[in-house]
Amino acid sequence: EQQFELYYQPKVDGEQHILGAEALLRWHHPEQGLVAPGQFIPLAEETGLIVPIGQWVLETACQQLRQWNALPGQADLRVSVNVSARQFRQPGFVAVVTEILSASGVQPCNLMLELTESLLMDNMADSIEKMHALKMLGVGFSMDDFGTGYSSLAYLKRLPLDELKIDQSFVRDLSTDSGDEVIVRTIIAMARSLNLTVVAEGVETALQHDFLQSQACDLFQGYLYGRPLQRLDFERFLAAAQA
Ligand code: C2E
Ligand code: CA
Ligand code: CA
Repeated sequence: EQQFELYYQPKVDGEQHILGAEALLRWHHPEQGLVAPGQFIPLAEETGLIVPIGQWVLETACQQLRQWNALPGQADLRVSVNVSARQFRQPGFVAVVTEILSASGVQPCNLMLELTESLLMDNMADSIEKMHALKMLGVGFSMDDFGTGYSSLAYLKRLPLDELKIDQSFVRDLSTDSGDEVIVRTIIAMARSLNLTVVAEGVETALQHDFLQSQACDLFQGYLYGRPLQRLDFERFLAAAQA
C-alpha cells in the first residue's frame, strides 16, 4: 500500500562532515500514524514478511543512493542499510543484493550493510561465506549494536567487517556512569587494533561528543548532529552542510 518510507540519519566525522546516512524504516499506518520500526520489525521477522520488506528497503535505499551520488561533491556518500537475521539467512540473499546493486547502478562500495552481533555469531560459517561473497563486489559491512551480544574475538577477526558501531546504551550513560567510559574506551581501542572504523551511535550531548572525540572515535551519529530525516529534508541538510 506504499505505507513505508525510509528516513535517513546523517553520519558525520570529527569535523562534522557528512560521510553518509543510515536508512531507517517508518510505517505510515492509516489509523495509527507514524509507527517506529521497533514496533513492527519484530513481528515482520516472526512472520517472514521481513524478507520482502527488507528487499524493498534495499531497493529504495540503492535508488536513493544512486541519485545522491550523482550530485556534485557527493560521489562518495554512503548509505547504510539494516539487515535482519531472517533476511540475511535467506539462501538467495547474496543474489538479491547483487541484483539490486546492478539494477540500481550504485557503486557497491557506497553501500554498507549493518548486521548485529547476535546475527553474525548465530551461524558463523554462513555469515563468513555471504559476507565474503558481497565483499568481493565491494559492499561494506558494519557490526551494529556492538557490546550488547557475545562476540568471540577470534570470530570477530575472521569476519570481513569494515566498521563497528558502539551500542547507544553505552553512549547514553557516558557522562553519568564511569563504567561505560571504560567500556567505550575499550571498544574503541579494540576496533582500532582490528583495523575497523568505529562509530558512536545515539550521541545527544556535547559532553558525550567531547569524550568520544578525546578517545579518537572515528564517526558519530545521533540527535546532536541530525535526527533521522525524510528524503527532502536530508537533501536540504546535505546542501546546507556543503554551503
Ligand atoms: P538501530 O539500527 O540501532 O538504529 C538506531 C536507532 O537509534 C534509530 O531508531 C534511530 O532513530 C535512533 N537514534 C538515532 N540517534 C539517536 C539519539 O541521539 N538518541 C536516541 N535516543 N535515539 C537515536 P529507529 O529508527 O526507531 O530504529 C530502531 C531499530 O529498528 C533500528 O535500530 C534497527 O534495528 C531497526 N530498523 C530500522 N530500520 C530498519 C530496516 O530497514 N530493516 C531492519 N531489518 N531493521 C530496521
Ligand atoms: Ca543500525
Ligand atoms: Ca544500532
